[in-house]
Amino acid sequence: MTNSQQPKICLITGASSGIGYAIARALAAEGHTVVITARRQERLQELDAANVTMMAGDLTDPGFQEQVVNTVFDTYGRCDYLFNCAGSIEAGPVESIDIDKMSAMIRLNVEATFRLTYLVLKRFKAQGSGHVINLSSVMGTKVRPTAGAYAATKFAMEALSEALRMELAGTAINISCIEPGLVMTELHKDWAVHPRESMGIHDPLTVEDIVRTVKFIMEQPSHVRIPKLMILPGHHQI
Ligand code: NDP
Repeated sequence: MTNSQQPKICLITGASSGIGYAIARALAAEGHTVVITARRQERLQELDAANVTMMAGDLTDPGFQEQVVNTVFDTYGRCDYLFNCAGSIEAGPVESIDIDKMSAMIRLNVEATFRLTYLVLKRFKAQGSGHVINLSSVMGTKVRPTAGAYAATKFAMEALSEALRMELAGTAINISCIEPGLVMTELHKDWAVHPRESMGIHDPLTVEDIVRTVKFIMEQPSHVRIPKLMILPGHHQI
């Protein structure tokens, strides 16, 4: 158990696979209450346990977001952590990227993340505490060819987070961005050549590496802020 040994109420998006799934599994195993969401119900059900509430739906739907937030607060009366893990990646040169898929990525990575943070922040303000943990990326701090659109979504997340940190300074509401390099998940499953090969990252991060990072952030005393934390695999060159 982390952070003063008290069970926490955690809302975790993108919890049907990869990083969100691993965070949800780890926090539930530690006795925290987790509310998990993603579109694929059958994958969420793999986390079935007494302290897990699952809500399947599309996070780009504002109505679904309101349903999720209302459920958390109606059921548990509070929320301690929001983990914004839902995200997608579309890559390609600016002049030839699939513009519709790119727009869908922006709706999820930027609009849905901003909207959910906005909704939960109002509740955090009312209860006087809370912590937003955003899954940004090393690509939220730099760019490379073919990654302009994805990097733009993560730069947007970083900008929102930094402004929020400033706006919330002196309150008990906290915001952190985790900035991983390549993590082995389903994120690149549709790519013809996985970045592990194309970027020569032979030993990528694992979801367990990200879970350790999350626990490190969660175990800090209340006067400490960790606005950004980058974690890279050893072969990361750019
Ligand atoms: P995964 O593809 O494994 O997980 C993405 C999650 O987002 C899934 O649970 C998926 O669930 C959910 N999701 C996708 N679209 C929607 C939607 N419209 N509505 C609701 N949920 C949705 O990827 P990762 O775990 O790797 O990615 C998690 C975050 O970490 C992302 O923001 C990613 O950008 C970031 N990141 C990942 C890195 C990596 O190398 N893997 C590196 C740096 C950052 P479902 O399909 O069931 O809806």
